[in-house]
Amino acid sequence: MEKYFGDLAWWPAETDFEVIVGTVLTQGTSWRAASKAIENLKAKNILTAEKILSTKDSSLSRVIRSSGYHRVKAKRLKAISRFIVDECASRLGVLKKQKTENLRKKLLKTYGIGPETADSILVYALGKPVFVVDAYTKRIFSRHNLIGKDASYSEIQQLVYKKFPIETKKLNQFHAVLVETAKKFCKKTSPLCSECPLGDIVR
Ligand code: SF4
Repeated sequence: MEKYFGDLAWWPAETDFEVIVGTVLTQGTSWRAASKAIENLKAKNILTAEKILSTKDSSLSRVIRSSGYHRVKAKRLKAISRFIVDECASRLGVLKKQKTENLRKKLLKTYGIGPETADSILVYALGKPVFVVDAYTKRIFSRHNLIGKDASYSEIQQLVYKKFPIETKKLNQFHAVLVETAKKFCKKTSPLCSECPLGDIVR
């Protein structure tokens, strides 16, 4: 996959806080829709935790409307912004020094942050060695008989930690190439195995 796609250099963003906002806005929607909402936040000059907190819910949800579920996502953005202000006064460098497991537990207690979003924040914004499991991962792994169809998030993550180097850069790239492989080749109904970089791997 890496030979095919090269270094994908995820996550596309100008700041670590923008990555965090992106992980919330892309929940249940396409990256294109999420990035349009991020551009709107930039245009309104409210892409900081403090400014998000001082913006009315109704105004914030209007600005991020393109991302879908915008009212819920406005609340989620406020919750993660509150966490960042309370935890490190918006100095993400301070947050990065905390232990991964502690940070993960705290993120999971934040409104609207589930395992996939927490792990995306950990690896892509805070540089922690964490693997993100998503629907694309499950599809590729199950089609290659690496997991059963009912495998849990944690089981899949632990499988990767047993078989793969636990290094931030490698785990960052592994998730990224899985996503791109699934989007381009491992389609939901008709996988394009003969064209896929994983096509000659036994299934
Ligand atoms: S070889 Fe086929 S099943 Fe495997 S990842 Fe590629 S498209 Fe999916």
